Amino acid sequence: MLPVVALVGRPNVGKSTLFNRLTRTRDALVADFPGLTRDRKYGSVDYEGLEFIVVDTGGIDGSEEGIELEMAEQSLRAIDEADIVLFMVDARTGVNGADSAIANHIRRINKKVFVVANKTDGLDADTAIADFYSLGIGEVYPIAAAHGRGVTNLLQQALVPL
Ligand code: GDP
Ligand code: MG
Repeated sequence: MLPVVALVGRPNVGKSTLFNRLTRTRDALVADFPGLTRDRKYGSVDYEGLEFIVVDTGGIDGSEEGIELEMAEQSLRAIDEADIVLFMVDARTGVNGADSAIANHIRRINKKVFVVANKTDGLDADTAIADFYSLGIGEVYPIAAAHGRGVTNLLQQALVPL
């Protein structure tokens, strides 16, 4: 079984952009993987030899409040079935309330979680990630999903021990 990597985070942080980058050399979306439900978007990935299933989530509605609503059902299920969670945040805006709410949930789960600061193109990487250590989850990985910066390094760190 390939590892399952879930992309979670508030709207507009770049989850779908990363999903598209990871899956673009593969034309088929994953339709039938045993144990995975179909209401989320799955893709099979071979990114520079790193193979896994990626799950995009879009179910977090930023207009809602509270952890149950922030972490919409779809995202909770995606986390549930994932081996690895990439918790995406926006390096251009810094930490906001929705990020903190998601972090409060993610901190309690017993999974490998990586904080991914996206949109670091044109920014100094060290400065861009500094704010997100306050989420209390651990190491923060700078990427630019739209351009590919940092993606290989992130995946190597996330997938190697599996
Ligand atoms: P999602 O709601 O988390 O799926 O976010 P999207 O993937 O739809 O991206 C939201 C916006 O952020 C879009 O306008 C993207 O073009 C932009 N975006 C995504 N990745 C990057 C990036 O690496 N750099 C910059 N500057 N913009 C990005
Ligand atoms: Mg999206």
